[in-house]
Amino acid sequence: MANSIQIHGKNFVPYLSETAIKEKIKEMAAAISKDYAGKRPLFIGILNGAFMFASDLFKELTIEAEISFIKLASYSGTKSTGKVLTAIGLDADINGRHVIIIEDIVDTGKTLSSFLPQLEHQGPASIKLAALLTKPEARTHPITIDYLCFTIPNKFVVGYGLDYDSLGRNLKEIYQLKEE
Ligand code: 5GP
Ligand code: MG
Ligand code: MG
Repeated sequence: MANSIQIHGKNFVPYLSETAIKEKIKEMAAAISKDYAGKRPLFIGILNGAFMFASDLFKELTIEAEISFIKLASYSGTKSTGKVLTAIGLDADINGRHVIIIEDIVDTGKTLSSFLPQLEHQGPASIKLAALLTKPEARTHPITIDYLCFTIPNKFVVGYGLDYDSLGRNLKEIYQLKEE
């Protein structure tokens, strides 16, 4: 097992090993490959956090598939609309496509509960969600996760694409913030 580390002066302890992550991703890729055979699904990875997960998952697929990436940004709309979430870089035409969203972690569920209805509007044949991690205890907005690697407690995690204030994304394992 890897050693504890410090990022921006905070202590993190190893939580999910590289082997455990790879194993779960292989299982997920096998399930998706089975469910989507002949459908040529379009994967949409959500940057930045999901880049590593999306890459490893995509490599394990044994079916024809496409992938594209977007960034979700929130800006202040009018007073009545409040914060508005917008997808940057969605170039693919998703009308009639089988779409699979790739997300790093579903925490409160707020981001996806705002984004998924926007996608529905564009007439995809189906939309499913593949997430690396979920923290059910933090959920304030209900979200259905169709493909999932790990359910984790409500503690901050970094590594394997996930950052703590922009650092830690390059770690091969996932670390948990240590309670001091
Ligand atoms: P939401 O609360 O809208 O479900 O989560 C939005 C985003 O916050 C996630 O996609 C992820 O990028 C980030 N996030 C949530 N929990 C964590 C965490 O424990 N660690 C890190 N690094 N990012 C998180
Ligand atoms: Mg994310
Ligand atoms: Mg972040």
